[in-house]
Amino acid sequence: FADRDGLIWFDGTMVPWRDARVHVLTHTLHYGLGVFEGVRAYQTSEGPAIFRLQAHTDRLFNSAKILNMKIPFSKDEVNAAQIASVRDNHLNSAYLRPMAFFGAEGMGLRADNLKTHLIVAAWEWGAYMGEENLKRGIKVRTSSYTRHHVNITMTKAKANGNYINSMLALQEAISGGADEALLLDSEGYVSEGSGENFFMVKNGTIYTPEVTNCLDGITRATVIQVAEEMGYPVVAKRITRDEVYVADEAFFTGTAAEVTPIRELDGREIGEGSRGPVTERLQTAYFDIVHGRDADRLDWLTVCK
Ligand code: PMP
Repeated sequence: FADRDGLIWFDGTMVPWRDARVHVLTHTLHYGLGVFEGVRAYQTSEGPAIFRLQAHTDRLFNSAKILNMKIPFSKDEVNAAQIASVRDNHLNSAYLRPMAFFGAEGMGLRADNLKTHLIVAAWEWGAYMGEENLKRGIKVRTSSYTRHHVNITMTKAKANGNYINSMLALQEAISGGADEALLLDSEGYVSEGSGENFFMVKNGTIYTPEVTNCLDGITRATVIQVAEEMGYPVVAKRITRDEVYVADEAFFTGTAAEVTPIRELDGREIGEGSRGPVTERLQTAYFDIVHGRDADRLDWLTVCK
């Protein structure tokens, strides 16, 4: 992935993709303390536009604050860096990866001279779990790995190190023949996917776990708002895995995963075993919004000029 053409925004300047390098003693590489975002830009009639840019930048700064990192750029500069990353790479649509990390200024847990560096990379990236799965839905397995406890890692931060748990869960799910993992929290209630928030539908009501120990997803917030405006009751509550088995529909949300239907959990079909009608309605609304086809939601889009 490092050997390709393009530009990466690195500490305030655009550098050729292949030259965007760090030293092997980069602190974050050793201890995992860093923060990042996953952001998408979509093709719209006005050009490529970043979806909910400010919300992602705000979360990046909140993540940094939680982990005691000082980002040496303003939010406006970080927004501009993301716009430039899409524009200067001539991308029509993109996945963007802003990341703040500690450099190689010091080593060891006690290092007190570390500088926070910031990169923004952007590249074309299609449907995270495949175009087909957006229609058909995915197979999910309950993970043997527990999701983070709130006082072990900071679950409100989108922190690099938090993704060890995600990767272990995802590898296990895939090696077991599923597409994604469903992680339970330390008390056994549904938390989230390896990189997605979880929703289920039962008797016309939409349920999602509270954000106690899962990431406060921007797609989650978007879908809740859209669903409520459509008239669906949305309830954030503790959910058990057997409630999911007998749900009418279930789906994941995330910047990468967008709105991905879940057709099976632990070998049990959810509802009809395909994308359900509520999921389809929300998915369609979501794609209309991100592509600028919903005139009421253009304020969520930042055109990359
Ligand atoms: N949970 C986790 C663990 C994630 O990595 C993500 C992706 N950022 C999400 C949920 C969904 O968040 P968002 O909708 O803001 O992308």
